[in-house]
Amino acid sequence: TVVLGIETSCDDTAAAVVRGDGVVLGEAIASQAAIHGPWGGVVPNLARAAHEEVIDDVVRRALTEAGVSAADLSAVAVTCGPGLSMCLRVGVRKAQRMSAEYGIPIAPVHHVEAHALVSRLCAGTETVKFPFLALLVSGGHNLLIKARGVGDYTILGTTLDDALGEAYDKTARLLGLPVGGGGGPALEKLALEGDEKRFKFPVPLRQRKNCDFSYAGLKTAARMAIDAEIGGEDVEWDGVDKRQTRADIAASFQAKAVKHLEERMRRALTWALEDTPDLSCVVVAGGVAANATVRSTLVKVVEETGLPLVFPPPKWCTDNGVMVAWTGCERLALGLAEAPVDAELEAKHAMMDPRDVHVNLLPRWPLGEKDARATGDIK
Ligand code: ATP
Ligand code: FE
Repeated sequence: TVVLGIETSCDDTAAAVVRGDGVVLGEAIASQAAIHGPWGGVVPNLARAAHEEVIDDVVRRALTEAGVSAADLSAVAVTCGPGLSMCLRVGVRKAQRMSAEYGIPIAPVHHVEAHALVSRLCAGTETVKFPFLALLVSGGHNLLIKARGVGDYTILGTTLDDALGEAYDKTARLLGLPVGGGGGPALEKLALEGDEKRFKFPVPLRQRKNCDFSYAGLKTAARMAIDAEIGGEDVEWDGVDKRQTRADIAASFQAKAVKHLEERMRRALTWALEDTPDLSCVVVAGGVAANATVRSTLVKVVEETGLPLVFPPPKWCTDNGVMVAWTGCERLALGLAEAPVDAELEAKHAMMDPRDVHVNLLPRWPLGEKDARATGDIK
């Protein structure tokens, strides 16, 4: 099987062609970092327009690199949610057009599931075998899940407010760092020069002995330090002045943010191993999994259990087409793809404004049921 994957849920237009045995044949990505950078966050209208402008080209590039023609595809996989609906629509419409034109099935993909499952392509399905434990840390999600099978997840913990990627982005912006394409990498770099002990920020949710996350309090603590030490939100980054203070804030923020991940991971491992002793490994994925401090800290925590720990390479931690194409391969193998779009129906759709056409989008798509222990403060 050969599957094309299309990803347009947020601010990257990405496509890839992946073979059923996990070989990546071709991939292409168009980042919108330069478009949203000046706004300090993703602007949905601009994102949709940018996706529409490049989607055909990105798909063409992935197919060309793969040396595969669209007619030879086994299926087209596309992210249907969660994400910005006007952005998701661009990818889904492209997939529907291709499905109708070439008579190929569509595999609808859950974006967060794709972040998790790409680990099976990276490390192999023998290493990352179901069931496994996964920590997903991205711009919109902070989840600890037990993966029991494709489409079958138990949520051990989730965020009560912000995801860590979002907290990185907002704090980076307040620190005057460039945030195009996510402020995480810039904050991580600045933190290298800082003293993480200088600011005594709180480790979140210490009193709650479950696996949930919270990053709003830490974000606020960092903002208050920035206001007090540097002088508020609109101060221009001058490159030199107060650089040490900024770096100290960045380092202190990151230290506590990662400590929180560490504590939750340790508890999730205990929970998961209690009722699932045959856990195969631990996966850490999503954009924040590209962070070196996150990686080195979690290596130590998971080492204590003797379980293998898998991180996708950084370029497949942030949004990409490979994870979507691979999840499509997984779904296809299980017969979880949808029949090709009817060509006549598609011709009718094509005459309408593509924004008005009903498509099967799932902008809010829960990944699984919550673990009973996660809802209370037990243990
Ligand atoms: P979601 O996957 O939840 O829908 P998303 O797709 O916007 O959200 P990803 O692309 O998976 O998020 O990840 C982007 C996030 O990861 C951004 O918030 C970015 O700041 C963060 N990030 C990327 N690299 C790093 C890094 N090295 N350190 C910290 N954060 C990082
Ligand atoms: Fe993502």
